[in-house]
Amino acid sequence: MAETKIVWAHSPAAEEIPEDAIFVDRLRCTGCWTCSLACMTGNGLKDGQFFVTVRTLGSGEGIDRPAGVWPDLHMSWMPFYSKHCIKCKPRTEAGELPYCVAQCPNKALAYGADAAEKIAAARARGARIYQLPGWEQGKEGVIYASPDRKII
Ligand code: SF4
Ligand code: SF4
Repeated sequence: MAETKIVWAHSPAAEEIPEDAIFVDRLRCTGCWTCSLACMTGNGLKDGQFFVTVRTLGSGEGIDRPAGVWPDLHMSWMPFYSKHCIKCKPRTEAGELPYCVAQCPNKALAYGADAAEKIAAARARGARIYQLPGWEQGKEGVIYASPDRKII
């Protein structure tokens, strides 16, 4: 049986970042779901079919539910790229950005060489840089920066 590589919160070195990396700067993400809808529309997906969804990291009880007790409430968001994501190959091969990256209103997403630059900048500001573990079954080459402040 092939060995399954399970990686927990792996922090990729600069040379491990692929050319088609997607970078998610969680400090900038406001959980608006524009990326998901841009993908659905741009790629002609069925209504309600998502290649990228947006998780709330809060109380664990659904979208936009914070953790904590008033007034000490906190939550953040994490776009999750499924294996179905094609990284908009037809667009990127034509020199365009993926729909999700192009439409994010908060510049929380980056692609390719821009992703590599922004990962380096986030690392320099002290953010934790990580990929999701293998058991999440997400898209390869999606790299996150932690929202490095206490309450967002
Ligand atoms: S990545 Fe951008 S478009 Fe997607 S939920 Fe976050 S802020 Fe909105
Ligand atoms: S890279 Fe393209 S296919 Fe993948 S989630 Fe973004 S818009 Fe959808």
